[in-house]
Amino acid sequence: MQFFSTRDKTRVVTAKEAIFRGPADDGGLFVADRIPKIDLNQYMDYSYEALAAEVLHLFFDDFSKNDLLDWARKAYGSFSGEEPVGYFDLDTITVAELFHGPTAAFKDFALQMLPYLMAASAEGRKVRILTATSGDTGKAALAGFQDVENTDIFVFYPAHGVSTMQRRQMSTQRGSNVYVYGIEGNFDDAQRTVKEIFRDDDLREASRRSGIEFSSANSINIGRLVPQVVYYLYSYLALVRRNTIAMGDAIDICVPTGNFGNILAAMYAKEMGMPVGRFICASNKNHVLTDFITTGVYDKNRDFYKTTSPSMDILVASNIERYLHLVLKKDYKVREKMESLNATGRFEIPMDVINRSKLVGYWSTDAEGEARIREVFDRFGYVMDPHTAVAYDGAKKHGSANHVLVMATASPYKFPDTVADALGIEGEGDVDLLKKIEDATGVSCPRPLRSVFDLPERFNKSITVEEMKEVVKEGFHD
Ligand SMILES: *Cc1c(COP(=O)(O)O)cnc(C)c1O
Repeated sequence: MQFFSTRDKTRVVTAKEAIFRGPADDGGLFVADRIPKIDLNQYMDYSYEALAAEVLHLFFDDFSKNDLLDWARKAYGSFSGEEPVGYFDLDTITVAELFHGPTAAFKDFALQMLPYLMAASAEGRKVRILTATSGDTGKAALAGFQDVENTDIFVFYPAHGVSTMQRRQMSTQRGSNVYVYGIEGNFDDAQRTVKEIFRDDDLREASRRSGIEFSSANSINIGRLVPQVVYYLYSYLALVRRNTIAMGDAIDICVPTGNFGNILAAMYAKEMGMPVGRFICASNKNHVLTDFITTGVYDKNRDFYKTTSPSMDILVASNIERYLHLVLKKDYKVREKMESLNATGRFEIPMDVINRSKLVGYWSTDAEGEARIREVFDRFGYVMDPHTAVAYDGAKKHGSANHVLVMATASPYKFPDTVADALGIEGEGDVDLLKKIEDATGVSCPRPLRSVFDLPERFNKSITVEEMKEVVKEGFHD
């Protein structure tokens, strides 16, 4: 399969080149030239790893199925539990737990796999991974790329915009090839500047002289998105196996959304043949996406809020560009919209295009999220993290006739303060609070999260947005 830029169909590259580069040179994002179709019936008995190898091979046929299977076994072997995804039923909603990987967020599904794809794509070339994070991508990317040969990784997170747990997970990261910086700005600042670095001639020249190429571990990299398609297909099959639905029944899928990568992967799964009724895009108080979905107008000119679901505190959702490609089809139209977004912070598409794509959107306040955490614990004994709670609230607001799959994107223990608040639990200090939540809920804290309070903090430097370019450049004097 070949890949081309959302902004220019003539920029065609192989899967390996698309993964190795991250974003396309023209500022666009790589997309597959077509989405492969599958017959889900054929995969009923597949293990997660076997399904991953099949799906990845359909998109990335530069890699052999055997290699992909080997990498999938290594990647998902690091997850806890019987299988990588856990399921929990809340009446007509099934929660798909995507947080059993080593860093306790769904990002592990892609970022435990991406280093294998990247190494095979680099073919000996050196690569510097630049990562902007709203909290979870950073840690998952660090865990994936730690001590990978010919690779180093820079992570930039909003210094005042992540949970204590998220910050400690990153600041205690081991490895000789990792660099972590808090920035005096929000996620949009980090993401925008990383995109600028990719297109900065001086930095590129300096990197080329050192024989190092930049790449991305953000969901602008197509190597992040395709592994995420797998858990949608797998979850559909799991619902059939559990007799929750019959093969062929449409389900609704509700995703707590920030950069629009996760929900886009669900759309790709539908294109491949999974029956979906509605895609429910759930947002927090930064509801630029809800407004876009309900009016057709995307407008980032608005106040930015810090919420208790920080991984969704985003106003410029990168993968909206790939969504536009999916629904508008024409590269010149996507280019037009993105140029408008760059110039004015705004673009518009017809509502009937959005409606045809089966996309609906809702947003929740922090208080609504907390109320859902409490309600679901009281009724079902189930503990949701604040992002999952936003999704659950969105699913309830939509009130589907179909069975709904709510994607649980993080462990509640990544956001212990908010969860404890919602459940009326008090603790003395970070470690004690984890213990108190365990005692009150009977849900145990993932070991890697508990241990961050025992590890030394290696990185506690915070820099300005302007300094991001400098630190990336300094790396070249190594
Ligand atoms: C990254 C993240 C999201 C947002 O996912 P996108 O793919 O960026 O839309 C939601 N919840 C959690 C916990 C996350 O880490």
